[in-house]
Amino acid sequence: MVETFVIVGAGLAGAKAAQALREEGFDGPLVLIGEENHHPYERPPLSKKYLMDQAGRDAAAVHPGGWYDEHAVRLRLGTAVTALDPAGHEVTLADGERLGYAKLLLATGASPRRLPVPGADLDGVLTLRRFEDSDRIRAALSRSGRIAVVGGGWIGLEVAAAARAAGVEVTVLEAADLPLLRVLGPEAARVFADLHRANGVDLRCGVRIERLTGAGGRVTGVRLADGTEIAADAVVVGIGAAPNTGLAVDAGLDVDDGIRVDAALRTSDPDVYAAGDVANAWHPLLGRHLRVEHWANALHQPQTAAKAMLGQRAAHDRLPYFYTDQYDLGMEYTGFVDPDDRYEVVFRGDVQRREFIAFWLADGRVLAGMNVNVWDVTEPIEALVRSGRAVDPARLADPAVPLADLLSTGD
Ligand code: NAP
Repeated sequence: MVETFVIVGAGLAGAKAAQALREEGFDGPLVLIGEENHHPYERPPLSKKYLMDQAGRDAAAVHPGGWYDEHAVRLRLGTAVTALDPAGHEVTLADGERLGYAKLLLATGASPRRLPVPGADLDGVLTLRRFEDSDRIRAALSRSGRIAVVGGGWIGLEVAAAARAAGVEVTVLEAADLPLLRVLGPEAARVFADLHRANGVDLRCGVRIERLTGAGGRVTGVRLADGTEIAADAVVVGIGAAPNTGLAVDAGLDVDDGIRVDAALRTSDPDVYAAGDVANAWHPLLGRHLRVEHWANALHQPQTAAKAMLGQRAAHDRLPYFYTDQYDLGMEYTGFVDPDDRYEVVFRGDVQRREFIAFWLADGRVLAGMNVNVWDVTEPIEALVRSGRAVDPARLADPAVPLADLLSTGD
């Protein structure tokens, strides 16, 4: 019997899974199904260089166009999978075709949350996930004098930076007391609030949106619960994403904030795996399930999934990693901090000049590190976190002490 492997979702995770399966020696039929009409592409440029017209679509491609044929990966683009039957080992496509599989990977990603207020479906209210969304926002920036951004998360802040670079007036409306508050905590979130204000963004925190206002079907602004009206030619909504779990739920797989998978990325069905934004995976090092909606996760998890699909022992235990570029600030973050846990933050470097590393510690152990305009430190930060060893906060804060020494001197 021919053992076809099927990957549902042709984003970064799906394309990397196809690559990993071939690299691991799988030479059977391999089908990669994607709802979008584009070859698999990476999404970080969509809120950075692509949005700012500094890079084209080709630069975002996961593989060159010819790669799929060269590796006998049957790419089915513009094709939605509408049903999954784990018992029958088959998926159904939108046109009714059924496709059998021996092993299946769900890499269906996530979708932008919609703003649950009146006016949210007016023209000019934009979200960001796909090339076309980024095109729409870019077009809006080129013809708008002022925009409002709802949500001071990664999308909101990166779009705000792109808009300021395009000379557009920007109001960012964030529900929490600071942008990025849940991910970074107040100490480090303040750095981003200051950065945006210094670049002319009207950042308003602790606000509640009552409705989006419009005229003739087009958005004209935002009304806040306190009655404030903010005029805007376009409104970009970046209030988080929801994992695309519909297929998994209907198929009876275990789903809880994403598709629950073990460290090998296996779902509650032994022949179905999940990776990328949609996977809520057991993390052996952190001792908990974690769903990570960042590029690096979609890049690396597929290697584990591919190995496991081929019957090899595999566990994904990489630390979460993400990065951002906003104005003249570049940042990388490595590790994980549960926002509900107690921690202290130690800074090394010059926070005012935005050239520093922030460390999150619990009981003296480093949980995560964020380097801002300081480079080539991801490896030592990762080593500090993985070691689980208590370090001396004073030495951690001292730029004269090499990070590697904190591990080797028994600190
Ligand atoms: P996000 O990073 O989760 O941020 C959403 C922000 O919107 C949060 O600060 C949230 O506050 C706030 N918010 C939620 N509801 C709101 C409301 N009704 N009014 C005002 N503010 C509200 O999500 P995102 O920026 O939409 O990005 C979507 C996904 O893409 C995320 O998973 C993100 O990690 C990923 N992404 C990553 C990068 C990167 O790594 N550089 C870049 C772009 C996108 P609370 O937290 O208090 O709810």
